[in-house]
Amino acid sequence: MRIDVLSLFPSMFTGVLGESILKKAQEKEAVVFNVVNFRDYADNKHQTVDDYPYGGGAGMVLKPQPIFDAVADLKTHSDNARVILLCPQGERYTQKKAEELAKEEHLIFICGHYEGYDERIREHVVTDEISIGDYVLTGGELGAMVVIDSVVRLLPDVLGNKTSALHDSHSTGLLEHPQYTRPADFRGIKVPDILLSGDHKKIDEWRERESLKRTFMRRPDMLKMLELNDKQRKWIEEFKKEGGLKKGESLL
Ligand code: SAM
Repeated sequence: MRIDVLSLFPSMFTGVLGESILKKAQEKEAVVFNVVNFRDYADNKHQTVDDYPYGGGAGMVLKPQPIFDAVADLKTHSDNARVILLCPQGERYTQKKAEELAKEEHLIFICGHYEGYDERIREHVVTDEISIGDYVLTGGELGAMVVIDSVVRLLPDVLGNKTSALHDSHSTGLLEHPQYTRPADFRGIKVPDILLSGDHKKIDEWRERESLKRTFMRRPDMLKMLELNDKQRKWIEEFKKEGGLKKGESLL
């Protein structure tokens, strides 16, 4: 995969792209990153990329020319790039979208700043508008990093353990079950016996039930998107009867 990022603050990406899985993904040649300052494409003497909004009002608006030209230039690297605008007005980002983008060969991210974009950028350059949540950031850089990280870890062979992304929260439509590691008894707080039993069939069933329970307790909205089987519906009736919640869990 090739990922181009258009930003007015390219150095913000240095740390994130140079560490952990994103670094390893480049070493494994699963992805190539190219972070570009789109100010370099401005065709005016002072390399201005923003201007006052027509009709008046607060803040500055990103001009179309530098972004149109930068995207046209980057698109020469492939036939069908997805051009993603980071923006609080876009579709809310989900794991499903990450899975969709992970199938692409070329992504171009546009990170905004200031008050907004000239609308013609949306209309004529962009294929997708993504919001990472219902709040407003200063710029699109952090949003682009979130999307890039979640997409690249899904590329083939990027994660060491091939199955680990499959069971992550949201990949299955459920939150992940609780995890424990050694010691089995930490200051008197014990790991559930079932996990020490060595009975993998029972462990799988315990995890399945706990995953459903956690989702029921914390994100019942997610369950509405799933078709539950008889066993899961029975478990949910049990959760309702059990009632008692652990710290941090809420029966919404
Ligand atoms: N005035 C704009 C509006 O109301 O839609 C918000 C502009 S915001 C201060 C500046 C830039 O930050 C945006 O152009 C976008 O690139 C980025 N941004 C802000 N919030 C975001 C979010 N929730 N998701 C993705 N990008 C965001």
